[in-house]
Amino acid sequence: MPELPEVETTIRGLAKVLDGQRIATVEPRREDLRRAFPADLGQRLAGARVTGLGRRAKYGLVHTDRGDTLVFHLGMSGHWRVDPAEIGKHDHLVLTTGDGRRLALNDARRFGSVDLLRTDELEQWPAFRALGPEPTGEVTGAWLKGAFAGRTAPVKALLMDQRIIAGLGNIYACEALHRARIDPRKPAGKVSRAKLEALATAVPEVLGEAIAAGGSTLRDFASPDGELGYFSKAFAVYDREGQPCGCGGTVRRIVQGGRSTFFCPRCQR
Ligand SMILES: [Zn+2]
Repeated sequence: MPELPEVETTIRGLAKVLDGQRIATVEPRREDLRRAFPADLGQRLAGARVTGLGRRAKYGLVHTDRGDTLVFHLGMSGHWRVDPAEIGKHDHLVLTTGDGRRLALNDARRFGSVDLLRTDELEQWPAFRALGPEPTGEVTGAWLKGAFAGRTAPVKALLMDQRIIAGLGNIYACEALHRARIDPRKPAGKVSRAKLEALATAVPEVLGEAIAAGGSTLRDFASPDGELGYFSKAFAVYDREGQPCGCGGTVRRIVQGGRSTFFCPRCQR
């Protein structure tokens, strides 16, 4: 499943093809993904010029000079293909640019989404309205202290609550808690201020390192059938059950809220 670093890498790759370009053609190849494509998608997007790209939580944003923003979510399996040699059955939206590039949004499981919103109304969009600060640098120890105060839920559960931090998923919640040496089972309100400061530092660090790793793959984006956004990453605890932690302990896996949590009981307290 794409997490925030994959979305950020995708946006940076798309920017190389789209930023400043005119969108020549827009072709939805079915009616819907998780929900219907906007009925007027082609009408509003074709002929528009892309004025910038961005990201909010795990949504990608493509802004145009018509005051519209294309908002996409990659769901479970979505990715953009750059200049695909041919269009396949899972390529559900195809865009071409004025300079002859072709982009295909491929999503075999179709949990992704595409919306077209007025740029100046983005913050009022229901999916965005309740989101907390971005995890890539806006979260502080003081914010976490306030958000976690009096809360008895495990700190990992609250770390993944989008109202507290936007866009932080399971992998990087595990990695950040490990780096901050916090037991994921600890009641959030009981985590010390010093550890919350460490967590506020660890969250952007683990994401930033993954984004940097993804960025180093972008030189391949121009190859035929280049797929944006997926890259191999090294984790300290995630998916490493039974393997050694750097502290000499052993990584454990437990299930919290239906998701696997990986942590080291020796150095995470
Ligand atoms: Zn350890």
